[in-house]
Amino acid sequence: MSAPSTDIAILGGGLAGGLIALALRARRPELRVTVFEQGLQCGGDHVWSFFASDIEDRADLLEPLIAARWQGYEVRFPKRRRVLTTAYRSVTSARLDAALRAALSAERLLTGAIVTQVEPDKVTLADGRSFSAGAVIDARGAAGLPHLAGGWQKFVGQMLRLSAPHGLSHPIVMDATVAQHDGYRFVYALPFSATEVFVEDTYYADRPQLDLPVLRGRIADYAAAQGWRVASIDYEETGVLPVIAAGDFDAFWNTMGAPGIGQTGIGRAGARAGLVHPLTSYSLPIAWRFALHLSSLETLSAQTIGPVCHAWAREHWRRGRFYRMLTRMLYGAAVPDRRYKVLERFYGLSEPLIERFYAGRSTKADALRILAGKPPVPLGAAMASLAGRGRPLAPLGATT
Ligand SMILES: Cc1cc2nc3c(=O)[nH]c(=O)nc-3n(C[C@H](O)[C@H](O)[C@H](O)COP(=O)(O)OP(=O)(O)OC[C@H]3O[C@@H](n4cnc5c(N)ncnc54)[C@H](O)[C@@H]3O)c2cc1C
Repeated sequence: MSAPSTDIAILGGGLAGGLIALALRARRPELRVTVFEQGLQCGGDHVWSFFASDIEDRADLLEPLIAARWQGYEVRFPKRRRVLTTAYRSVTSARLDAALRAALSAERLLTGAIVTQVEPDKVTLADGRSFSAGAVIDARGAAGLPHLAGGWQKFVGQMLRLSAPHGLSHPIVMDATVAQHDGYRFVYALPFSATEVFVEDTYYADRPQLDLPVLRGRIADYAAAQGWRVASIDYEETGVLPVIAAGDFDAFWNTMGAPGIGQTGIGRAGARAGLVHPLTSYSLPIAWRFALHLSSLETLSAQTIGPVCHAWAREHWRRGRFYRMLTRMLYGAAVPDRRYKVLERFYGLSEPLIERFYAGRSTKADALRILAGKPPVPLGAAMASLAGRGRPLAPLGATT
């Protein structure tokens, strides 16, 4: 038998695939790792943020990807304004792309490479080329999450270049003092330099549709209300992310893989494996933990990769139970324009608890603390939503 053309084939050079490639290159340099990315750049055109406290292990390997770092952040609600000390970080796709190009040679980082067919030991591209592989990891993202239900976090973000300094010294991770529309609405503002601020208008909504002109107008109104004079809009991104409240993990897993090979043969990572925080929809810390896990394994083969990924994703699903319950309360019990009250109350809790929440590491005591006291939503509606009788949840199978 001839040797495979690569030991590990990673399909998709986005966040999850890119981090796995970097972790494997750093910790398993003897493995030949090949990334197949359909775009001309890895990671698209993205800013991914996270709390420094989300990353427990080998944060040093992520350092080159970080474009901005801040000591602390702020939240604003009608009845609460608070500055927290947890450090905040932003990674950019441009840096991910540069790190991958530094770690992998041109024949191991294939851009413009559209994967059309996948087998446990073979990858075929749209241009007809095929590659044999010791193991295949599918990290091609997910347009929707079949068999899961919940709501949507949707947003438009713009990098605003101002004609005078904005005066922010740290990010505003949630400014919910804005008018509430279409569910829980808040503005997110990241000051990248004295005159550059990335402003995102965000909604925890029941429907995935984005009304771009309206949201752009609201960003302009927010900037004007802060007294910021916008000289130019340098960059824009939009997102419609599933917020998971309930679902059938096994059906999801079998649907997202090729039929019949859900648990064997082909590995999966990132959103395609459901590796996202059920309530925040963020995935960077989860993707990093999984990348480190894969790079710690002695054997990565077509025989082991499917079960390894399935076991990890299943455990992630199990650990997400509490966050899915909170999502059910947020979407099922709270009247859309009162949803902000859930977060307003949450931000009155201790910083370590908030850190563990974002890291997806809440303890049983945290769960009790979050649920204790007078609920910010009507008790009857909260109980009904937990019993599955609340406002109907949206199927998350597709974003349109
Ligand atoms: C606008 C936006 C902002 C976000 N901000 C944050 C944030 O700040 N922090 C955070 O933690 N999370 C954030 N998220 C959520 C989540 O982390 C991202 O969606 C993340 O990119 C998911 O990682 P992934 O690797 O699964 O998918 P992706 O990063 O989307 O990667 C999938 C890759 O596969 C490639 N691909 C797809 N099909 C093929 C094919 N047939 N052949 C070859 N390649 C293919 C794509 O081009 C893409 O590069 C954000 C999401 C969006 C949409």
